Amino acid sequence: MSAEQLLLDPLHLPPLRTFSACRRRFQSALAEGIPGPTRPPTFLPVAALPSTEPLPAQGRGPSPAPEGSSPPGEQAAGRRLAAFISSRLERYAATRDDIAGDGTSNLSTDLHFGSLSVRTAIRAALEAARDAPELVGGADRWLEQLAWRDFFGGALWHFAKLTTQEHRAEFRHLEWRGSEYALEAWRQGATGYPIVDAAMRQLRADHLIHNRCRMIVASFLVKDLHLDWRHGEAHFARELLDADLANNNGGWQWMAGTGLDAQPYFRILNPTVQGERYDPNGAYVRRWLPELRYLPDRYVHRPWDAPSPPRGYPRRIVDHAAERLVALELYRACSSQRSDSSSRPLEATPG
Ligand SMILES: Cc1cc2nc3c(=O)[nH]c(=O)nc-3n(C[C@H](O)[C@H](O)[C@H](O)COP(=O)(O)OP(=O)(O)OC[C@H]3O[C@@H](n4cnc5c(N)ncnc54)[C@H](O)[C@@H]3O)c2cc1C
Repeated sequence: MSAEQLLLDPLHLPPLRTFSACRRRFQSALAEGIPGPTRPPTFLPVAALPSTEPLPAQGRGPSPAPEGSSPPGEQAAGRRLAAFISSRLERYAATRDDIAGDGTSNLSTDLHFGSLSVRTAIRAALEAARDAPELVGGADRWLEQLAWRDFFGGALWHFAKLTTQEHRAEFRHLEWRGSEYALEAWRQGATGYPIVDAAMRQLRADHLIHNRCRMIVASFLVKDLHLDWRHGEAHFARELLDADLANNNGGWQWMAGTGLDAQPYFRILNPTVQGERYDPNGAYVRRWLPELRYLPDRYVHRPWDAPSPPRGYPRRIVDHAAERLVALELYRACSSQRSDSSSRPLEATPG
């Protein structure tokens, strides 16, 4: 882990067990001032390398970048950061949940691969807000999102077992009743819930989806389809351009209610309400589900209520209201089990 990846170096910090604790540390670090990017060394002693045989060619080489994807590299990342700060940072707090819009930075891939240092991103936001007070609100909210990276990065550093295990012991024995059929319908975007299907189809095409969509499809997989969050995490890891072990695992364990500082298990997102709230006129679902293009706005997130259901669009594979109750029952059954010594929260990884 390098100092350019996270603002808070987990090596020199105790485990931060809640996001609030992490955010406080993050804010203190901001107040102390952000060091510039580490300068590249001017001299690197290199031992003589042994001569080797050329490596044999491997298959077809790297697969081409998805069509329409942003150009990679540090300079392109710098331009993306500058464009975000000049045109979208001011309204970030208000527009960050607008699924059909372009209110967020779209910098997660650059931050993951290191084509953008987090320190550079933070300094740019702070400097812009210092010079233009109207940016302060947006910058504060955006920096808070960056603090989540430090929270999940630090969590994984200290609790390496999070990659395979729930932090919260009581939920290690959850009953996963879901079927292979339901998992495939979720992966293909054929669940009959427009906002879920649109997001899953965008994931397959663009290999990036909005944070709100990640939350909705994750909640749906775990709480409506009763499938193990690890299936979702693995699918995201394969599909996402910004797939990041710490953030992906953190996001899934947060949504499943099993992580270090997770949302309570009884918070279950209603996919219809989420669609109506964050994609109010259905612009996003219409973009990804042509079957729903001509459906009136009032039915676009609930096509099953339309007088004539849209042709070619699947029927709902589950009833959210019923599955919500099942999920509550399954979680309750676990959370009321008495903890014994074999079911403690994860211990910090030694060293
Ligand atoms: C189930 C699930 C899985 C996720 N998997 C990943 C993943 O593999 N890789 C990944 O980078 N993010 C992941 N996220 C977090 C978040 O969805 C993305 O970082 C965000 O959508 C990226 O868009 P953006 O760059 O426009 O974000 P912005 O809103 O502009 O936020 C700025 C930066 O802050 C960081 N950030 C924002 N939200 C979060 C968050 N909740 N957790 C951690 N970092 C955050 C990202 O680096 C992001 O680029 C996941 C979230 C969920 C709910």
